[in-house]
Amino acid sequence: TEMLLEDLPGVGPATAEKLREAGFNSIEAVAVASPAELGATAEIGEATAAKIINAARQAADIGGFETGDMVFERRQHIGKIKTGCIEFNEMMGGGIESQSITEIYGEFGSGKTQVAHQLAVNVQLSAEQGGLDGSVIIIDTENTFRPDRIQQMVEGKANELGIELDYEEFLKNIHVARAFNSNHQILLVDSAMDLANELKDSDKPVRLLIVDSLTAHFRAEYIGRGTLADRQQKLNKHLHGLQRFANLNNAAVLVTNQVMSKPDAFFGDPTKPIGGHILGHTATFRLYIRKSKGDKRIVKLVDSPNLPEGEAVLSVTRDGIVD
Ligand code: ADP
Ligand code: MG
Repeated sequence: TEMLLEDLPGVGPATAEKLREAGFNSIEAVAVASPAELGATAEIGEATAAKIINAARQAADIGGFETGDMVFERRQHIGKIKTGCIEFNEMMGGGIESQSITEIYGEFGSGKTQVAHQLAVNVQLSAEQGGLDGSVIIIDTENTFRPDRIQQMVEGKANELGIELDYEEFLKNIHVARAFNSNHQILLVDSAMDLANELKDSDKPVRLLIVDSLTAHFRAEYIGRGTLADRQQKLNKHLHGLQRFANLNNAAVLVTNQVMSKPDAFFGDPTKPIGGHILGHTATFRLYIRKSKGDKRIVKLVDSPNLPEGEAVLSVTRDGIVD
């Protein structure tokens, strides 16, 4: 049976209630909180908060070890979601992998959200059709999810495969939540975990989690601050939560990220993704997408643990992502 907040040492019913009201409704949510944040929320001292957080970390097995044979067993079940573009698939060793975080970064309008929508469609297809027979959760931070775009892509896929597909069925397997700020965004990963548990034994288990955009709230909220350390720490925790989701559900995680294209960036590469090295170490696959002629986009594999760097050309059309 699942542990309740009340099961943590030092948490009585009143404290548990305050935590829940503040959105800390699971052991995991407490485990990744900071003592200052939790202390203020539950009106307890920081030292007490730190003890509660430690207990929650142990209970949630955050940072727990797996033996090599366990990792091996788990990795036998890695699935790949086709992107719609052959060159792109080949560059990725078949498609977007489950049990991994794939980051796609690029300028505004480069096609990140289009790729996200396409994967939300494709993941629902059967393995022969290039999918994982799964459903999808989208954490939408910029209000850019468009059901009518899904309809177009499903129609495109039906034409391509020469079969009938019902776009309404596809929409039913897409679970969208708006994230209003970075804290909410982090907590939604817990809600996603709950939903994935509910659907685990259904005919459409959750096999894809999209965070579009991963960094927009973080960037907006931490603008003009003297230090970015807080932001990076929170982003880091968030990414670990996402990796955990990927492992526990054998799901692919796709996060989008904007590049800093500000003219006031005197130094450094203006096409560097937000979040810098923290993201670089946590995302397993990093993709850089940029506009080319017409509807063409160039997507570059910048970083991967086991694949060579490469580039692929894709098109964004009414039917979706194609060759
Ligand atoms: P971002 O990288 O900012 O998320 P998007 O993924 O939203 O960018 O890409 C927007 C671009 O996608 C548009 O400028 C257009 O080129 C293309 N696009 C969007 N919808 C369609 C459509 N229905 N048909 C063809 N192209 C589209
Ligand atoms: Mg977008």
